[in-house]
Amino acid sequence: MSLLEKLRPQFHAAFPRLASGNYVHFFLVRHSQSFPVFQTDGVLNTARTQAGLESEGEKSRQLITRLVMFKRKQVTPERLVGRQLLRSLGLTSAVEGENNFCEYNSQKSCKKCPDCIIYGFGIGDKGAERSKVYSDSAFSLSPYETSHRSFTFNAPSENGTMSEKGEMRNSINDLDHVLPEVTFPSVETLRDPTFEGFIYVLGNLLRTRRYGGQESRTGTMTNHIIGIAFCDGEVFSNLYFTQAIYDALSAKGDTQVPIGEVRQQAAMVAENCLRKEPVRSTIISGNELDSLLEEVIGMYQDEARLRTTMSTLCQKAQTYSETYGALVLEKKKAEKKKAEQGSSI
Ligand SMILES: [Zn+2]
Repeated sequence: MSLLEKLRPQFHAAFPRLASGNYVHFFLVRHSQSFPVFQTDGVLNTARTQAGLESEGEKSRQLITRLVMFKRKQVTPERLVGRQLLRSLGLTSAVEGENNFCEYNSQKSCKKCPDCIIYGFGIGDKGAERSKVYSDSAFSLSPYETSHRSFTFNAPSENGTMSEKGEMRNSINDLDHVLPEVTFPSVETLRDPTFEGFIYVLGNLLRTRRYGGQESRTGTMTNHIIGIAFCDGEVFSNLYFTQAIYDALSAKGDTQVPIGEVRQQAAMVAENCLRKEPVRSTIISGNELDSLLEEVIGMYQDEARLRTTMSTLCQKAQTYSETYGALVLEKKKAEKKKAEQGSSI
């Protein structure tokens, strides 16, 4: 039996009405592959934090400035990748007027597709759905000083020079960029998981490659999943996870190490931290995790299986919406109208 099949009983057969106390935590290390820009108002987002968690030990106790990847900068690109997949399979539509039309983050959200139901929406008095995906700001493992660089870009004209019709172009752009190979340890959580929802959220983590400012178009990142835990409660924060990894690495001598080593330490730290949490938990890591990820990747490569899984997900999301969600009222109204029409004949 495949690992995914073995895990199936851990999931809800349908989206439950109320939070059930079932959580899947994805432990990951986000790893920059080029020069992402995570900024508001022209400067990179940073925060002063303690380097590690220890109260003793000079290195761990020191305050350092860390780069910050706000929650929205993580989840928005992942949602967009998922929505793109649903459209490419013809399960949702970008064409207004079509039955399965959904517009992201607007009054025209459909309130019933997997994106609306899993990641949530809020459209004033037209209804809201709380997100079932929890995430929070992520912090760079390494300090800001060694993790960024400011670049000045000249924006040449179409002929490739800095002058146009004899005049110098004045389009120089000064932008603070995150450097390649900076890591952001994170925990992303899915509550009340269905099997298909789990595949969807995990797939979005594996398939999202671009984060940060759209204007830069250089924000490639890789998400290394280093553990997946099934728990009956929430667990430690991104900052705590980052600080614990910092301590583990500095105990070994150096915090600036290759990604392979960060992954290894992060996996061990996730297990150790989980053991201290007041929750029941099962963690999948190491070889078991590798084969699970292989299975999930295999599913994303197989159109027929992917289509079946995502179609089931869409049905479950719609059923939830019509039974407990924002579509209940609309459905009632439609039924009432039908009944009235029926009685007037
Ligand atoms: Zn939708």
